[in-house]
Amino acid sequence: MPTNFCRPGWSAASLLATLFICCNSPAAENVTVVIDAGHGGHDRGGIPGQRIAEKVMTLDVAQRLRNVLQASGYRVVMTRDSDVFVPLGTRVAIANSYRNAIFVCVHFNATNRMGASGIETYFYSRDSLPLASAIHHFVVGGAPSSNRGVRRRGYYVLRKTNIPAVLVECGFLTNPTEGAYAQTASYRQKLAEEIAAGVQGRNSVGGALSTTRVATSETIPLQPYMDQTKVTSSKHHKSKSSHKKSARKKKTSSKSTGSEARYASTDPEA
Ligand SMILES: [Zn+2]
Repeated sequence: MPTNFCRPGWSAASLLATLFICCNSPAAENVTVVIDAGHGGHDRGGIPGQRIAEKVMTLDVAQRLRNVLQASGYRVVMTRDSDVFVPLGTRVAIANSYRNAIFVCVHFNATNRMGASGIETYFYSRDSLPLASAIHHFVVGGAPSSNRGVRRRGYYVLRKTNIPAVLVECGFLTNPTEGAYAQTASYRQKLAEEIAAGVQGRNSVGGALSTTRVATSETIPLQPYMDQTKVTSSKHHKSKSSHKKSARKKKTSSKSTGSEARYASTDPEA
């Protein structure tokens, strides 16, 4: 009905929405995004014997992410832009050499249990939570994978960076479905675009935009080895993973009755 469009409330909402979008234009930002493609060189990533090399997938998504962000006007720095090994300390040093910057680590997960699946996003410092929540919100929204939640963990690259830093695990390469998706360029492009959307929306997700319950430092305490996060708003409540590769692997009890991950994360990134 035409009258609906003339209601004051509707008009005000539209105006606010317009302002909101304008105020969040990346053109208004002067932020350097340091993109960290996980692994590289002799560090293939993933678990022993894994068919899909994580280092290849992370670099491809990172390069696509760079392209998307640059097209939106961001200054971007890559910790690696080819198949080379870069020590974690060097990655952190690169990130910490920029002011007014954020750090985005791109990884994929792996486990010996093929059924494990889903997206998870890690942060450490409180300042990193909005970025983690935003990236997770968009990546989960754009991926066919289940939502494994935003999690706090002391990965080296997250602990040692002094700028907002996030590590996103873009699905399990050991899962047949997610592995197949990851091997398509269009899906990797989609991942890059969703991560970029998270970068751009990092100051707004958690408020009006969020449809995913956002983690806080209070609801998610530090999880050095074990994951106890409740996944929310997921269609797939059975996702549960066992991770093996980490040198500090600590496979915990399988006390879960089937609702959540109870195992240490696989990704040895850190
Ligand atoms: Zn990794």
